[in-house]
Amino acid sequence: LSRMAPAMSGGMQQGGSLDPQNSQTRYKSSHAENTNKFIVEALQHLEYPERLQKLLLTPEREVSVELAILRDNGEVATFDAYRVQHDNSRGPYKGGLRFHPDVDIDDVRSLASLMTWKTAVMDIPFGGAKGGVTVDPSTLSERELEILTRKLVQALRPILGTYEDIPAPDMNTGAREMAWIFDEYTKFEGYSPGIVTGKPVWLHGSLGREAATGRGTVFAVRELLRAIRMGEIRGKSFVIQGFGNVGAWAAQILHEHGGRVIAVSDVSGAIHCETGLDVPALRQHLADRQALTTFPGASTVPKEAILTVPCDVLIPAAIGGVITEANAGDLQCKVVVEAANGPTTPEADQILRDRGIVALPDIYTNGGGVTVSFFEWVQNLQNFKWSEAEVNTKLDVVMTDAFKAIWEIHEADGLNLRTAAFVKALQRVTRARATAQSSL
Ligand code: GLU
Repeated sequence: LSRMAPAMSGGMQQGGSLDPQNSQTRYKSSHAENTNKFIVEALQHLEYPERLQKLLLTPEREVSVELAILRDNGEVATFDAYRVQHDNSRGPYKGGLRFHPDVDIDDVRSLASLMTWKTAVMDIPFGGAKGGVTVDPSTLSERELEILTRKLVQALRPILGTYEDIPAPDMNTGAREMAWIFDEYTKFEGYSPGIVTGKPVWLHGSLGREAATGRGTVFAVRELLRAIRMGEIRGKSFVIQGFGNVGAWAAQILHEHGGRVIAVSDVSGAIHCETGLDVPALRQHLADRQALTTFPGASTVPKEAILTVPCDVLIPAAIGGVITEANAGDLQCKVVVEAANGPTTPEADQILRDRGIVALPDIYTNGGGVTVSFFEWVQNLQNFKWSEAEVNTKLDVVMTDAFKAIWEIHEADGLNLRTAAFVKALQRVTRARATAQSSL
């Protein structure tokens, strides 16, 4: 059932369309096209020749497969799945696997490219990849999900490997799915804990990995607030779109640092409390399978209104393409910290720049996840276990150093933080490519 698709152009697709399925009327222009616009801006600043631009924008491999499973009701269901390997000049391909109904090849292509720039800006020795299955996992039983995940491993096995391509969690996947991946791969290839990261801590996972993207986001917020002289996290107000693994951990850690998390949303709705939500109680409420909107002591607001709640720091931590030209003018925050991948369209980004709203880009902000994935991989290769304190301290160093590198370019070249981050990443990738590949 699997077929290898030839590498296709990483972008240059025309047009876009309104997505009627989405209540937020998300403008669905091509994700890859949007990502490429940001990269091209940085490439132009670097004055790279055109042949290099094409090389850097084009994924190295795209695999598209169809997964068939036997459902609990005895029927056969099929699902499209993809893995795009964008670049491996700095190390093995690395990136998550998402289970989401919106997943398509264009989406995965854009996310794979973002991983290349993310691992480069964080300066960890990995390349970039991404995968996904077009599925709403809430419609499948646990048994069906397990079979789907195992089928995915079987289909992608030829292109995965501990030193080749290492998947990880992403939207709607977590330690459970990573354990299935580890187990399935091991059946065929023998004991290989380093084949996937984000595994359960009791099955070769790393302490601190689950919280890493949220914790990294908080380190990123700390660095940004200091750099732009807004002060400390304590007392600042935060609004978070998305209360999955990333949003919930970011909320928890901001709360621990004295930040006021005043509004959060998830797929079911949004809540607001100006004095600050009791985040641990909210997490318990959700763990008890209660709806977000029934959390006591908070008022409900329409889901779409979450982005325009007045606050110091807005943190999109859900799907991409949510800050658009339709709503960027209505944002009432001082800074946007992109914990999600690709939350801001290029048009919206321009509006934010014009309005003086600082955007801290995704490829840096959410880089804590893949950074601790790197730590997990290293521990697997070492057959060793680090303490959580060690993981968190090392994560802090990586986040702080990456911020410094971006800030230096921002100051020296007068670039916004997004372009500065892409410039740093492009420099690192092209340097590695030029050194390793004499054909360049
Ligand atoms: N899915 C996460 C991301 O988008 C983590 C990837 C990884 O750990 O490989 O950065």
